[in-house]
Amino acid sequence: MSAEPDGPEDRLRRFATIWSRAVFPVTSTSSTRPEFEEQLLPLARRLSEALRARAFDQEEARAVGAALVGAHCTDPEALSRTLDCVDAYLVLYCGQGGDPEHLRARSARLQHAMAAGFAQALRERTLAEQEAIAQAALKAQGVVAQALHASEARFRAVFEGAAIGIGIADLDGNILQVNGALTRMFGMSDQQLRGRNAMEWTHPDDAPQTWRLYEELVRGEREHYHVEKAFYRPDGTVLWTNLTVSLLRDADGTPRYQLALMEDTTERRLLNLRLRYEATHDALTGLPNRSFFFERLEKALAAGPGQRFGLCYLDLDGFKTVNDSLGHAAGDRLLVEVADRLQACATAPGEMVARLGGDEFVALTTGPDTAHQVDELAGRIMNALLAPISIDGRELTVRGSIGIVEGPAGERSPAEVLRSADITMYRAKSAGGNRFELADPEADARVITRHGLTTALPAALERGEFFIEYQPLVRLGDGTVRGAEALVRWLHPQHGVLGPDRFIPLAEHTGLIVPLGRWVLEQSVRQAREWRERHGGPDAAGPLRINVNLSPCQLNHPGLVQDTVDILERTGVAPDALCLEVTESALIGADDDLLKPLRRLADMGVDIALDDFGTGYSNLANLRRLPVSVLKLDRSFTQSMQRFPADPVDLKIVEGIVALAHSLDLAVTVEGVETGAQAEQLRILGCDTAQGWYYARPGPPERLHQLALVDATG
Ligand code: C2E
Ligand code: MG
Ligand code: MG
Repeated sequence: MSAEPDGPEDRLRRFATIWSRAVFPVTSTSSTRPEFEEQLLPLARRLSEALRARAFDQEEARAVGAALVGAHCTDPEALSRTLDCVDAYLVLYCGQGGDPEHLRARSARLQHAMAAGFAQALRERTLAEQEAIAQAALKAQGVVAQALHASEARFRAVFEGAAIGIGIADLDGNILQVNGALTRMFGMSDQQLRGRNAMEWTHPDDAPQTWRLYEELVRGEREHYHVEKAFYRPDGTVLWTNLTVSLLRDADGTPRYQLALMEDTTERRLLNLRLRYEATHDALTGLPNRSFFFERLEKALAAGPGQRFGLCYLDLDGFKTVNDSLGHAAGDRLLVEVADRLQACATAPGEMVARLGGDEFVALTTGPDTAHQVDELAGRIMNALLAPISIDGRELTVRGSIGIVEGPAGERSPAEVLRSADITMYRAKSAGGNRFELADPEADARVITRHGLTTALPAALERGEFFIEYQPLVRLGDGTVRGAEALVRWLHPQHGVLGPDRFIPLAEHTGLIVPLGRWVLEQSVRQAREWRERHGGPDAAGPLRINVNLSPCQLNHPGLVQDTVDILERTGVAPDALCLEVTESALIGADDDLLKPLRRLADMGVDIALDDFGTGYSNLANLRRLPVSVLKLDRSFTQSMQRFPADPVDLKIVEGIVALAHSLDLAVTVEGVETGAQAEQLRILGCDTAQGWYYARPGPPERLHQLALVDATG
């Protein structure tokens, strides 16, 4: 089973398949499902191209929405399912290589335009149908005028049986005849309706031209008109209609009557409002979402001379920890509470709050004096976060970092403003968080952006810009080298060597971590074999082993076990020479499905280490369930031993963990050993292996070889 990625055509096809499966059951098409899929494929292609196009083209998406109506997807449910499907899968299948944040915002805008195109096409089609009915009715009416009995009967049948509301009034507006559909739409009886005059039916939402068109028609100056019009029903509710009114003339051409045809669009209108709302609001918090915010920011930046804008870009500090340790449901509740508090901070005219995604929020203020207002706004937000948030009986303290951008309208694009806000927010975060910082255009220009790095990642892998350093793992008992941990670095053409903390989170976010992780695994295992060939004889203290870090995404990837087996087989390295390091937080709350691949690897003899142990609040009792054989104590434990004498409580804790680990048959490795005193202390506490600058910093593979040789001979 190879995990070869599909080409763009395959992915596009898969998207079309999913789409057609979702929508086919609610279409009124006469095609089969595969035929229907063929119809959707070109539409999927247009969406895919519009998703990746440089500039946003709403016409393309509107055209796709309209084409759905053409393909007999006229049921509102078909639109709803289409939007769900686009929302969930378009970026996934058609967004390869792009910036995911940008693609998601683009996808939201595409959905919105599709919904608009769909509604418009449906309206036009309805009007065309009405026109056809009006023509038929007119023809019949003409025949009626000639008193042909048979046609009269046919006309009555059309009139009464029509699903569309039909009414006839004289030129003064007195209603003469209505059909059953019309009485049902208005919730009034035939008699009640016939007593009324059309001119009584004004509504505050009437379009300005509505009554002018009416006047022109009854004066005989126009043959018909179409409007969207609302009516009050007797119970006070509102009926929305597509209304077509035609003038009926007698045989000499003298105007006699007006014929109204109306279709009830109340529900469709509600659906449209709901779709518009859903496309522009965040489902969790109800705040405006990224695409709505973009629209508003675009407007604010296009405002006339003298107008300014101020933007606060907020990212919560330590939100990931809440999510990891208390679970997503608690994280969600926290976000909802934060959203409510933020909303209450920005209530003045010209102010708005939106959620950009995750734990990122923005507040915008506009007007002539935003320099002052935006500072106050940021202050209000910091204040609003002060009071702890109570979730599941725990009081959580929430802090945030805010980047502020303020300036005149008309100089920068929304993307530039957000980029600057994002950079500034990161500056606030790096300065310790729980603060706000003001954007500095010069600093912006120097910053390596997350965005820039993210887009450069895929090419970097192809161009071979990554390399691996190895840091030895040393046996505390006798100081011999047991193996090494592989630590990846990126030699960036502009920024020099970047550490994994800079790019691993981005690679995880975009999914590139899977091919990157596979590359690291393959390189490291090859390296391990080379060490063995040059060094590890039967006389040595055992073959050198290699530790490789795995990201949570890699754990979820279906190819993990097979890829690992393939690499081991290709290189001829035994499974027990490999140790995979998984962070504690990745395994918290993991269910059996997630653990299965790890368990299979463990069964084959691969060691699994729990990395950064002690940072994720995991339950010690849980260790028993996990297929791990090594605990790697986080650096923070070692750090607390730097002081001399070390804190006795800390020592007790480490001693306790070591005892527990050994009782569960787990080996204990410690990270971050920087002094001989620490090493000695950890040895006394019973730790098995250690890693840290005291022995060696991460370095090229040859260095490890030398170290190991010194051991073996010395
Ligand atoms: P980690 O697995 O906990 O790796 C140990 C980190 O501690 C390394 O940082 C190492 O350089 C650093 N370190 C080692 N000895 C000392 C010491 O004595 N004092 C101090 N202060 N630090 C020490 P690095 O290389 O920056 O790696 C950071 C993290 O990036 C790693 O933490 C690991 O989680 C992740 N990482 C590195 N390579 C990969 C990879 O190939 N794949 C994945 N998924 N993650 C990786
Ligand atoms: Mg590690
Ligand atoms: Mg670690």
